[in-house]
Amino acid sequence: MRTIDKVYIDGQFVTPHGEELFDLFNPATEERIGQVRLGDEADAKAAVAAAKRALPAWSRTTKAERIAMLRRLHDAVAARSDALAAAMIEEYGAPQAFVGFSAAHAANLFLDMAETLEAFEFTQTVGGAEVTLQPVGVVAAISPWNSNIGSICSKLATALAAGCTFVIKPSEMSAIQTQVLAEALHEAGLPAGVFNIVNGRGDVVGAELTSHPDVAKVTFTGSTAVGRSIMRSAAETMKRVTLELGGKGPNIILPDADLESAISHIVMVGFLNSGQACIAGTRVLAPRSRLPEVLDRLKAAVAALKVGESTDPTVTVGPMVSQKQWDRVQGYIRLGIGEGAEILVGGEGRPAGLDRGWFVQPTVFTGVNNDMRIAREEIFGPVLCVIPYEDEDEAVTIANDSPYGLQAYVESADRAHAHRVAERLDCGRVTINGAPHAPLAPFGGFKQSGIGREYGRYGLEAHLEVRAILG
Ligand code: NAD
Repeated sequence: MRTIDKVYIDGQFVTPHGEELFDLFNPATEERIGQVRLGDEADAKAAVAAAKRALPAWSRTTKAERIAMLRRLHDAVAARSDALAAAMIEEYGAPQAFVGFSAAHAANLFLDMAETLEAFEFTQTVGGAEVTLQPVGVVAAISPWNSNIGSICSKLATALAAGCTFVIKPSEMSAIQTQVLAEALHEAGLPAGVFNIVNGRGDVVGAELTSHPDVAKVTFTGSTAVGRSIMRSAAETMKRVTLELGGKGPNIILPDADLESAISHIVMVGFLNSGQACIAGTRVLAPRSRLPEVLDRLKAAVAALKVGESTDPTVTVGPMVSQKQWDRVQGYIRLGIGEGAEILVGGEGRPAGLDRGWFVQPTVFTGVNNDMRIAREEIFGPVLCVIPYEDEDEAVTIANDSPYGLQAYVESADRAHAHRVAERLDCGRVTINGAPHAPLAPFGGFKQSGIGREYGRYGLEAHLEVRAILG
């Protein structure tokens, strides 16, 4: 049993004013593995005050000083990558391939932002005017459990590069990962108050941060429903917002695709992080002319996935994070059956041989149309829908007929063809033929997948105010 009973304010690990204890579980065993003491409104206020005090000095640091600090943060986080990976496995059961990527990615985000900063000009000349870009002020960040360390590192790196100071409310379900990360960040030796970390509930610490008059910007990653309430709360004091929200990504198999590689990409991005990923490609759009072959291959590939405890490196699908999430996914599988879709593989209940842990059978629905709730709503589990289409125009129409617009995928043997289709998709990112992540390229959503972009120059600009001086 672990006890996490400190928050990080003004350069120190301190006992929070809040007294509520929150249980932490290992989702593979359903056992309680720890408790975190949650902060409250008073802790959030103290963290904002510390960030406000640190702002004048930090906002005057030079580009070279910020780059040096980002490199130190990278080194400190990289040195803890094994501990971060172990915490992610224990606390939410993420499969090892995902965990390995996430731990390295979290550290590299600081180097990526250092590279962006290197090339960035804070003073520009536009139409005869001098345009200066200055830090927006104190930034409040809020992270989800499925991408806790990545969200913290991305948001922190960007805020610091812009010259802003920072308060994060991590997911209350990710306290072990947050503790490992906080110790690493502390070791980097930033001035007190530049960043602060307050564990707490969304409706307590989160609500305080998103309404506090001294917070200039909120950067949030999480569900669309909470994003909406944050936007309302931020409007009162006209806070700037970056919102990274949910998704229901289409994965379009063009008729000319090589099905062997296409199916392997579909399985990889469809079941990424056990299906608990905003960027998961969960709507598989298949040409009707090749539907039988697509279904045969997909069924075999999904049936071969290994479900189990992520301590086993050969496992590709781990447990759902919580009983609540398990119930939610089961509810959607029942809903799909009720809506008239057919199960190609998987179904309700635990996989055979697993009688404890919040494990779900990787499931694929066929006979789905895009009006069904299983095709429109984010399930956030290992559940895919196959939707047939007649021609390319219909594929694009179905792909764009969604309240979401985060990440889409296109599979084709002809890259130029895939590119032409990608240009017609209403979403923030399109990945062709399983292309790797591009860390300096913008990331974010159209429509109800969010507002604004993270990463690289676009992320940095979202943390700056623009002043034009004429004459
Ligand atoms: P969530 O929205 O329930 O919670 C996210 C965070 O918001 C948590 O820290 C929570 O405590 C906090 N919160 C809750 N209520 C709040 C309030 N009223 N005010 C302020 N903060 C509040 O999401 P989750 O279940 O933790 O994460 C899964 C969701 O996140 C999915 O919808 C997923 O698609 C989305 N997500 C999006 C991205 C992206 O980059 N677009 C990345 C990862 C996850």
